[in-house]
Amino acid sequence: MSAAFRVGHGWDSHRLKAGRPLWLAGVQVPHTQGLDGHSDADVVLHALVDALLGAAGLGDIGTLFPDTDATHHGAASSGFVQAALRLVHQAGWRVMNVDITVVAQAPKLAAHKAAMRARVAELLQVNASVVNVKAKTAEGLGPVGQGQSMEAHVVLLLQPA
Ligand code: MG
Repeated sequence: MSAAFRVGHGWDSHRLKAGRPLWLAGVQVPHTQGLDGHSDADVVLHALVDALLGAAGLGDIGTLFPDTDATHHGAASSGFVQAALRLVHQAGWRVMNVDITVVAQAPKLAAHKAAMRARVAELLQVNASVVNVKAKTAEGLGPVGQGQSMEAHVVLLLQPA
């Protein structure tokens, strides 16, 4: 292994739609709408997958899990994280820490951050102390601020296993 650390970044955005459950970081959050997409549309876990793959130099979520693949229809995004983590482990890396920012105008996510942190730690097979989850609104601005969509940003560090 030539490097001591590898950093990865992930970003994702999904449209909100009535009649869908809201999944964020593998946690079902009560809300009037959910995120729309081919899978469960968990915007946080999709950004997490891209951060994992990015740090290891393994491409992106769209290449690994194309939305043209019917097997991913309605899929739990936790499976994408587990598959990406396997590739990262096979490449000789382990997760050192991960920092997550969810941008959502509503609902208030403060009460769900601990569950999201615990679920991400479980999926990444790390201690919850190295997982951080932050939630922000968009101050009413843009599609996120107007409640049309949500975004997630993830930064993740790998170290040799
Ligand atoms: Mg996505």
